Amino acid sequence: MATQNDTPKSGSGANVEAPPPPQHHRKVALIAGITGQDGSYLAEFLLDKGYEVHGLIRRSSNPNTRRVDHIYIDPHNAHKARMKLHDADLTDGSSLRRWIDTICPDEVYSLADQYEVAVSFEMPGYTADVVATAALQLLEAVRSHVSATGRSHIRYCQAGSSEMFGSIPPPRSFESGTWGEYGWIPLPLSETTPFYPRAPYAVSKCAAHWYAMHYREAYGLFVCNGILFNHESPRRGENFLSRKITRAVGRIKMGLQSTLFLRKPEASLDWGFAGDYVEAMWKMLQQEKPDDYVVATGQSHTVWDFLNVAFGYVGLKCWNHVVIDDRYFGPREVDTFKGDARKAEKVLGWKPSVGFENLVKMMVDEDIELAKREKVFVDAGYMDVSNCPEYSVLMDEATSGRDLSRKRLKQLKRTRSARLPKRPKLGWFAS
Ligand code: NDP
Repeated sequence: MATQNDTPKSGSGANVEAPPPPQHHRKVALIAGITGQDGSYLAEFLLDKGYEVHGLIRRSSNPNTRRVDHIYIDPHNAHKARMKLHDADLTDGSSLRRWIDTICPDEVYSLADQYEVAVSFEMPGYTADVVATAALQLLEAVRSHVSATGRSHIRYCQAGSSEMFGSIPPPRSFESGTWGEYGWIPLPLSETTPFYPRAPYAVSKCAAHWYAMHYREAYGLFVCNGILFNHESPRRGENFLSRKITRAVGRIKMGLQSTLFLRKPEASLDWGFAGDYVEAMWKMLQQEKPDDYVVATGQSHTVWDFLNVAFGYVGLKCWNHVVIDDRYFGPREVDTFKGDARKAEKVLGWKPSVGFENLVKMMVDEDIELAKREKVFVDAGYMDVSNCPEYSVLMDEATSGRDLSRKRLKQLKRTRSARLPKRPKLGWFAS
């Protein structure tokens, strides 16, 4: 039988009334992407607030739960275990629907996707599947669950990205802004700034954003879009710029690496702390009405700024260690971002608590500790320093038969002689 939720409603999502959640039980949250940076902070945050937290994890040959291991309690300890993990893949709509029906969440956080702009140029189809279509599948799973059960109080947060803004081409019609490499970028960027995505990831994020708005407006679901600017932490993936820098700083300081290869250090980004951003997502879902919010610090800093703070913090000079490598350039990337989060501040009462310098230092502190632990293995002969990523890149080049410039060869030779292990390669935990 068709219910109210099967029938598209007209009008803006801002008029949707959200029925109150039932009071008799602990709130239940479902996090898609719990093993990621944001998912892990959000899980901690919600557990602290007394929620029962469920996370979807994808199958991999090795468990990939290190970011949530510290808060995981074995389900055999049923009284204490308030976080549960379930196997599901974003590309499998049926598993998403099944878990929504089984878990019956009060809040759903859509934080899982292929979040790497550069990779999205290499894998545009996969990116569209796990960023755009997966968001649609999750929304549809929620809609049909609501339709079948009448649990219309369910609330949904879609993690959008500042990458959706891209750069707006001329004519310039904004009060203030800057010329980016590909066009005019109005600054700062707010909820009313039009999107002009410049990468497959960004295009897919726009689709997810509009799907979310569609489900809010057409079906009356309580759906919020968070338009999130860059947010970092010691849990940031090591393939992301900020973490790549702080990992290198730690390793260089401990003598495990000498060079950091980077692209576009003049790019300017709005960098916040991930722990703050998950709080903003939660706050969006506690409002009376669903809406969209930019979440940003309102400050932008260049990659050079980041490098200076990170290297300076441990007494090193970044220009002695950083090499600009154009192989890392994407075909169309945006180089300037600054967000205007005044709406989030006004409506949600949200403000970032960690400033730029403290964020960088927090990450460097963590990565110095990590490098110290690595060094113990290296010194004991259990780990080969040539396993460091930078070294591998150079070795790949040397053996691939690719033409190497003279400068590159010299660099390679230096790196090789500096880092080739004196003793035979033992690998991890050799006997
Ligand atoms: P991460 O890359 O750290 O986490 C992504 C999560 O998605 C991981 O848990 C990952 O699982 C999961 N995932 C990826 N593919 C699949 C799949 N096919 N099936 C199931 N799960 C999958 O991202 P963040 O935590 O930093 O970001 C969270 C969200 O916020 C993302 O949507 C991102 O686009 C958005 N965002 C983030 C910004 C930032 O600066 N961090 C800025 C703007 C937007 P696994 O651990 O197995 O890889």
